[in-house]
Amino acid sequence: MSQQRILELRRILDRLSYEYYVLDKPSVSDQEYDRYYQELESLEQQFPEYADPNSITQRVGGVVLDAFTKVEHSRAMLSLDDVFNLEELQDFDRKVREVEPNARYVAELKIDGLAMSLIYRNGTFVQAVTRGNGIVGEDVTHNVRTIQSIPMHIPYTEEVEVRGEVYMPNASFEMLNKQREEKGEELFANPRNAAAGSIRQLDSKIAASRKLDAFWYYFVNSSEFGIQSQEEALEKMEEMHLRVNPLRRICANMDEVWAFIQEIGEQRPHLPYAIDGMVIKVDSFAAQAHLGNTIRAPKWAIAYKFPAEEVVTKLLDIVLTV
Ligand code: NAD
Repeated sequence: MSQQRILELRRILDRLSYEYYVLDKPSVSDQEYDRYYQELESLEQQFPEYADPNSITQRVGGVVLDAFTKVEHSRAMLSLDDVFNLEELQDFDRKVREVEPNARYVAELKIDGLAMSLIYRNGTFVQAVTRGNGIVGEDVTHNVRTIQSIPMHIPYTEEVEVRGEVYMPNASFEMLNKQREEKGEELFANPRNAAAGSIRQLDSKIAASRKLDAFWYYFVNSSEFGIQSQEEALEKMEEMHLRVNPLRRICANMDEVWAFIQEIGEQRPHLPYAIDGMVIKVDSFAAQAHLGNTIRAPKWAIAYKFPAEEVVTKLLDIVLTV
């Protein structure tokens, strides 16, 4: 029975991933996807005899499309493990403190876009690659070049690789869907899918017209610059004129993280871009290295997912109608 359910969940999640990552056309909400995923994860933990390295829980859920040149990442581009409430955050904190008792955190916004890696050589932007399956991504340099906020030159001659999130601002998303509606074209489900669809265009004029933007949150080879923590890395990227989200906070413990999550939760409806949660990262690189990674996600970071906005609205509707 449990084996059957595990196989069924893997089939469902593979289909949903295909719709989301390949077609950019999800048929269910992220919350529904996350529920299937959690159910599979917990069954796989309960029944390790049914483990499978091809299960979605054992790999980064993206794909690499043949239309683009494939590029191997210098270091794997991982996903993040998710938590949905304070208790699960405290669990994460407990596991971190078993290894790093004095850890402090940087709490950042989880931008709902698609992960991208940028490479600069001799101070010049040379390549942009999607996360793909985490090991190999797609070269989308021609489209990323159209994003106005990305500097084409930085004042460093050493090779620099940064990673972050390309996203579609809400205003661009609304305008795009309005234009598509007028033309009788199919609408994009959300800004994330619209951004992914725009980056996966062979003609860069289309991407340019979509008014994408980006935030950068990971300086891959920062240790070569003597950088020792996430906060220092973010500051260094700001110095390079890369766009870094100013909404972030250093937190000494989970209480401070939780207070920041509440603040951002209140600001969320007024932000000009979509976020689906917050990412909490151990600040010190030495502590990060000590904690290590699993095959699909770092053990030194966690994504807290906000409850769905639609659910809140529905609840409010119920409250208002009873
Ligand atoms: P994820 O989106 O849950 O988290 C990892 C990603 O967060 C990173 O790869 C990075 O791109 C992003 N990110 C944004 N801000 C960040 C920051 N400040 N620091 C670090 N990373 C940041 O993981 P995923 O593997 O990209 O996607 C899985 C999620 O996608 C699921 O949880 C689900 O919500 C959604 N999904 C939905 C469907 C569907 O059918 N609706 C299908 C597949 C996946």
